[in-house]
Amino acid sequence: MRFQGKVAIVTGGARGMGASHARGLAAEGARVLIGDVLDTEGKALAEEVPGARYVHLDVTREDSWQHALHTAEEALGPVDVLVNNAGIVHFGGVEEQSPEHFRRILDVNLVGSFLGMHTVLPGMRDRGRGAVVNVSSAAGLVGFAGGVGYVASKWGVRGMTKAAALDMAGSGVRVNSVHPGVIRTPMGESASPDLFAHQPVPRMGEPEEVTRMVLFLASDDASFTTGGEFLIDGGQTIGVI
Ligand code: NAD
Repeated sequence: MRFQGKVAIVTGGARGMGASHARGLAAEGARVLIGDVLDTEGKALAEEVPGARYVHLDVTREDSWQHALHTAEEALGPVDVLVNNAGIVHFGGVEEQSPEHFRRILDVNLVGSFLGMHTVLPGMRDRGRGAVVNVSSAAGLVGFAGGVGYVASKWGVRGMTKAAALDMAGSGVRVNSVHPGVIRTPMGESASPDLFAHQPVPRMGEPEEVTRMVLFLASDDASFTTGGEFLIDGGQTIGVI
């Protein structure tokens, strides 16, 4: 029960890995605010997870973040944990990707995570405690063909995490990034099996395998860990980084 009495926000929490993180945090005592744009799925999950609430949160919008923080503080209490998990992918190489898709990926994956920290970190600093986990990707440590926008966004999340960890130095607030490989979610199911067939652990990962790392980093178990990058990729990137 590492999160007894604590409050967490999970973005993109209506399905996939975000739903797994919300369930995992709640199972260890957290009151969780699930934020997403998928209202039907998010509300259904919040009814099922003890102590959870759902809020419509479009991570690309500052007013939406203000509303989500207000909802968390009013309904659940001051925020101890932020999991910036919401993300999208549009495949396309540098010649094919439309500028609109490139901008949209950066807006959701990178700017969305920035806005989350920009909104939530001041309160954490004031209280002298808190943990942020930013969800990057194995694609935040390597490149892959046909993923120019996604790769750019996830390298951005990794770099931003380190800068934010330094900005929070000495405050009691920690910021880390996680880097999943191919994981069995609606997004991961769209990946080619070639991507994981030759890994040292030759299968897709399960959302719960990422959740265990997210919970470690969000908890006091990781009290001496900030600005770090943590792979959960079945060894996919060994040999290339
Ligand atoms: P998913 O598509 O199942 O879930 C993503 C969630 O984000 C959805 O519920 C979606 O509605 C939400 N979302 C999208 N745009 C949003 C917005 N503007 N505001 C709020 N919520 C929004 O995908 P997933 O696999 O669970 O992905 C979770 C995170 O993990 C993403 O950041 C993704 O890039 C990353 N990731 C996934 C994999 C994989 O193989 N599945 C691998 C590495 C990293």
